[in-house]
Amino acid sequence: MKMKITGKTQVLGIIGHPVEHSLSPAMHNTAIEALGIDYVYVPFAVEPVNLSTALKGLRVLGVRGFNVTIPHKSAILPLLDKVSPEAELCGAVNTVCRENDLLIGYNTDGTGLLKSLREDLGFEPVGATVLVLGAGGAARGALASLCNAGVSRIVIANRTLERGEILVERFRGLFRNVTFHLSTLDMKQLEGYMKTCDLLINTTSVGMNGSSFEGLDLSPIASHALVYDMVYSPPETPLLAAAKRNGSAHANGLGMLAAQGEAAFSIWTGVESPPGLMKRRLLEMFAA
Ligand code: NAP
Repeated sequence: MKMKITGKTQVLGIIGHPVEHSLSPAMHNTAIEALGIDYVYVPFAVEPVNLSTALKGLRVLGVRGFNVTIPHKSAILPLLDKVSPEAELCGAVNTVCRENDLLIGYNTDGTGLLKSLREDLGFEPVGATVLVLGAGGAARGALASLCNAGVSRIVIANRTLERGEILVERFRGLFRNVTFHLSTLDMKQLEGYMKTCDLLINTTSVGMNGSSFEGLDLSPIASHALVYDMVYSPPETPLLAAAKRNGSAHANGLGMLAAQGEAAFSIWTGVESPPGLMKRRLLEMFAA
């Protein structure tokens, strides 16, 4: 069905900087068209210095909801009227919905990650040991969802140890039944953790545009262990190429991107995006 803009069309969008490369407008407008609902999804480039003014604008324009991407995911928290417990836990918001003139912040990245891990890799979190590379915003989201889903042990390995330490301390205090360890990205330290993990997740930006971890060797990981890279461009990152050579089941972050989008879409519209549609649209765009 072709999208038709009317006087009643509700506006959805994404704020970020830069935002022109975002795949979200195509993903959401495909779902809107397929369902024939009266919405449109548009990109808004918002520089950090303009975030507060942009929010005032989005409020008075009556925008129904929007996604939040780099660099606003944490900075937006104090500007919202209410924040979901999950977003509070992650310290980051990726979805905002206007409800009764209040702007409510959510974080659907964690839900998206778990859905993708289950669907793309058959990962069952209960009792699992997870090795998380990175300690930035994406790692916080991953930790929150993995801890809530029942994993029993998490190793955080980060280039800057102090940043990893802050994360370990925070989550250790919140999830008493999960055991946390801290590591550098040095193989001497990582090797032992690799041998015992059920899942290794890259939450760093390493892998984007083909960049790779210096000296990282996946050969110690067990044959049953899964490898997930949140990076999806290129579709086969050097980490995933190494997992493939190792014979490990692996997946990139495209499924997570689609699943966090599906969750945001249902918060705004109250209806589900047709199953698999957003991911198919993303795959089409990558193939093109
Ligand atoms: P962030 O808060 O800036 O954190 C970046 C992380 O990457 C930090 O742990 C940083 O380590 C590490 N890092 C950066 N360059 C490195 C290098 N050369 N060697 C080793 N570690 C390095 O960013 P973020 O928001 O967490 O996002 C991280 C990635 O996740 C991005 O690529 C983003 O696109 C992806 N992501 C994907 C999805 C999805 O839907 N698939 C969703 C969210 C995020 P230091 O602490 O040492 O600086």
